Amino acid sequence: MNHARSHALFERARQLLPGGVNSPVRAFKSVGGEPFFVQRADGPYLYDVDGNRYIDYVGSWGPMIVGHNHPAVREAVQAAIANGLSYGAPCEAEVEMAETITRLVPSCEMVRMVNSGTEATLSAIRLARGATGRQRIVKFEGCYHGHGDSFLVKAGSGMLTLGVPTSPGVPAGLSELTATLSYNDFEGATRLFEEIGGEIAAVIIEPVVGNANCIPPRPGYLQHLRELCTKHGALLIFDEVMTGFRVALGGAQAHYGITPDLTTFGKIIGGGMPVGAYGGRRELMEQIAPAGPIYQAGTLSGNPVAMAAGLAMLRLIQEPGFHERLAAVTARLCAGFEAAAREAGVPLTTNHVGAMFGLFFTDRKVETYAQATACDIAAFNRFFHAMLERGVFLAPSAYEAGFVSSAHDEAVVEATLEAARAAFRSVADG
Ligand code: PMP
Repeated sequence: MNHARSHALFERARQLLPGGVNSPVRAFKSVGGEPFFVQRADGPYLYDVDGNRYIDYVGSWGPMIVGHNHPAVREAVQAAIANGLSYGAPCEAEVEMAETITRLVPSCEMVRMVNSGTEATLSAIRLARGATGRQRIVKFEGCYHGHGDSFLVKAGSGMLTLGVPTSPGVPAGLSELTATLSYNDFEGATRLFEEIGGEIAAVIIEPVVGNANCIPPRPGYLQHLRELCTKHGALLIFDEVMTGFRVALGGAQAHYGITPDLTTFGKIIGGGMPVGAYGGRRELMEQIAPAGPIYQAGTLSGNPVAMAAGLAMLRLIQEPGFHERLAAVTARLCAGFEAAAREAGVPLTTNHVGAMFGLFFTDRKVETYAQATACDIAAFNRFFHAMLERGVFLAPSAYEAGFVSSAHDEAVVEATLEAARAAFRSVADG
């Protein structure tokens, strides 16, 4: 594959953008090599500036659940832009969006639109702190909730309850308020609540972890957290930036039958435009300004073009059987990856929930962050490049979930698996 133009663009980008990119994982640092630059995207495919085509399992990190450049979404955006790009005053599409989200996700009785997943999670924990009058938050190793100060924190070595920053620039005084637990560890959560339960404003979790590859909850785990939060007066926040409208129409909370107090959504509800939202019980959401005293705002929030794209996309995914079909394609894909790896003698385990999947280079079942990080990362990196050379784009990191869209039909899955058979053989050959 020729990458001359991408290479030249990356050289230019590196002069002016830190690391050559506007978001770190795009730079291919963890898999090595250089990113390709996209010229256009259509259906299940990305096309780069050198004319190469890739089957895309990144899907803009989740939102492209109906495939790229879907005509219904494109036409909705074209119609919206004919009426201007941003008003800074209310518009009807915001009301429709709120009606749609609250109907599809009943735990959200009210919502507030924002512009990114990061904004949604920052705002949700401010609300949780403001509403409970408590300061501590609890998160889980391997979960990512955007780049807010309170989330760029890991467990301190001595005291489990006092977090330490994972990035320079995060004040220690703030990181100490974040405790980090092991995902899927029942006992750890029970112990932490016994120790400091009365000080915890909120527990925030990716109900299916999509930022440590793909790790589903153990049976009863989310219920256990729900019970601990209820018992100790803490709020349970589901970060459904990845799982929302994807693992089921009603998100992970519908899939697992658990009702969180607050939910955060991201990119998916913008159909590819920059959007996020948070929502929850009415009495909590009514504490947000201007209805209540907890401040949160945004000049571009509820942007009419983004609302139009999101509404068009949300209409498409409400077709009967949409999520069942996606889940079946994802299951077929994962079974195909496992068979191809077995044939080549490469140890591989897969996890999938709905239209989210993860490939782990190990022969063990993966249920925890520690198990995910113990996989053969070098083998993943070789596989990633072997797939890319064969025209299949997986997330450029062993720690990111893959996403399937409704544009990934049988033929696309078969083409992916054909590439995978050869790629696994090249991994086996070293
Ligand atoms: N929460 C989760 C679960 C995410 O996966 C992400 C981003 N991938 C975020 C929050 C942050 O969203 P954004 O990048 O839109 O700020």
